[in-house]
Amino acid sequence: MTKVLVTGASGFIAKHIVRELLDKGYEVRGTIRSDKRKGEVEALFPNAQIEFVKLDLTADDGWDEALSGVDVLMHTASPFPNGDPDDPEELIRPAVDGTLRALNAAKAAGVNRVILTSSCAAIYKDSAKPPMERSTEANWTDATASYVTAYEASKTLAEKAAWDFANEHGMQLTTINPGGVFGPAMDPNFGTSLELVEQVMNGDFPMLPDINLPVVDVRDVAYMHVNAVDNAETIGERFAANAGALTMLELAGPLAAAYPDRKISTRKAPNWLLKIIGRFDKSVGQVVGNLGRNSDVEASKAERIMGFTYIPSVEALLASAEYVANT
Ligand code: NDP
Repeated sequence: MTKVLVTGASGFIAKHIVRELLDKGYEVRGTIRSDKRKGEVEALFPNAQIEFVKLDLTADDGWDEALSGVDVLMHTASPFPNGDPDDPEELIRPAVDGTLRALNAAKAAGVNRVILTSSCAAIYKDSAKPPMERSTEANWTDATASYVTAYEASKTLAEKAAWDFANEHGMQLTTINPGGVFGPAMDPNFGTSLELVEQVMNGDFPMLPDINLPVVDVRDVAYMHVNAVDNAETIGERFAANAGALTMLELAGPLAAAYPDRKISTRKAPNWLLKIIGRFDKSVGQVVGNLGRNSDVEASKAERIMGFTYIPSVEALLASAEYVANT
C-alpha cells in the first residue's frame, strides 16, 4: 500500500487531504507540532490508523523519522497567518527552510515523489506581466517587489527552492497552487483561510477594497493533491487551483443575500481613501498593493489532466459561510 507523509496534518487543507487519502486507500503518516493538534486530527478519523511524527519547520529533529518508509512526500506545512509580521523573515525562513528540510530528508530516505502545496500567491504578482492581465502557470511572483507581502514572498521563494532542489536531484515534483481556499471546514480550527469569510459576515469591513482573489473549494484542492500521487502526467508540473476569481464585492454580495440579518457591507472603498489609510495601517497597506492588479490565474490545466470540474467559486464561498454561521 502506498504510504504518504502529509506535513502539517493539523492544517485546514491538510485535514481534507488526509480524508481524501484515507478514502482512496492510502496509508497516512502526518506531521504535527503539538499533541493538542494531533488530538484534533485523531478525533476526525477515529477509525483510521494514522501515524504521527512531531516536528517543526524550523528545526532538524524528526524529519528523518518522518520520511523513513514512506513512498510520497506531501508537503503542505507553511506559516499562514492573518496579516504579515513586522519582519518578513518570520514567514520566509520557516517556509523556505522547512521545504528544504522536507526535501533533504526525502532524498536521504530515497523518497523521490513530492507534492508541494504552493499558492497562486507564487504566481499572480509577476512584475513582467501587465498588472491587469490574468496570470498563467508560467508566471512567477516577483518576491522582491514592494507590493508583494511577506506571505506571498514566502510561498514564492519556497516553491522556487523546491523546483531548484528537485531539478538538481532528479526528484519528481508536482506543485498545487491554490487561490483563496474556501469550502467547508472539518472542525473549528480552520486557520486563516475562512477568516476572510468570517470577517465579511461579521461586518468587520465597513467598505470593500476594489480587488479580486482567485477562489477554490478545499475539496477540490484535496482531490488535486491526491490525484497527483499516481498521475504520471502531473510530474514536473505546476497546477493553479482556481475556480474563478471573485472581487470583494462579488464575494460580499452572495453572503449579504444569503444572510440578510447580518450587517454585511457591499460598498466599495475608494482607492484614494485606502491609499491614505494604508500609509498608517499596515493591514490596509497590504490591500493597497493589490489595487489595480488582477489576481486571477488561468487554472484549467488541472481539470484536463486530473479529470474533474471545479466546484464554482460562489458555491465554495457559501459552503464556508454555512460552516462559519453554524459554528
Ligand atoms: P493552516 O494554518 O490551517 O495550516 C498550516 C499548517 O502548517 C498547520 O498544520 C501548521 O501547524 C503548520 N505549520 C505552520 N508553521 C509551522 C512550523 N513552524 N512547523 C511545523 N508546522 C507548521 O493553513 P492552510 O491549511 O490554509 O494552508 C496549508 C497550506 O496551503 C500552506 O502551505 C498554505 O500556504 C497553502 N495555501 C493556503 C491557502 C488558503 O487559502 N488556505 C491558499 C494557497 C495556499 P499548527 O497546526 O501547529 O499551526
